[in-house]
Amino acid sequence: MGIINDIELTEYFSLYEFQCPCCKRVMLSPDLLTRLNHLRMVINKPVYINSGYRCKEENHKIGGVTGSYHLKGMAVDIHVDDFSIFDLLLYAQEMDFTGIGFYEKKNFLHLDIRPGEKRVWKGSQLIGY
Ligand SMILES: [Zn+2]
Ligand SMILES: [Zn+2]
Repeated sequence: MGIINDIELTEYFSLYEFQCPCCKRVMLSPDLLTRLNHLRMVINKPVYINSGYRCKEENHKIGGVTGSYHLKGMAVDIHVDDFSIFDLLLYAQEMDFTGIGFYEKKNFLHLDIRPGEKRVWKGSQLIGY
């Protein structure tokens, strides 16, 4: 018997990478996956998912914002080793992620596909698009 969510979605990503760490439940927007896969292809380096889908309990536990797109399967936090976080931001903008959180010190990006106006933020500050 295979391990739950051990399902290859693309050449680069499997479903378990997106699952909630506390309960293994998972929701994943196909649009999010398409963009993430495109990003992975273009930068040609492994993309690690720090956080994908979160259930309510998990989101609360780690201090995620209420209404986070992680709760809807529409967001991921990613890091890429030995790759400039600034370059990664530019690529993410090109791939049309509509919400991008820039976490320079912790070396990761939050990427989501929220509807409406695009935004990039750093801490509590909007830094444009
Ligand atoms: Zn959970
Ligand atoms: Zn996030």
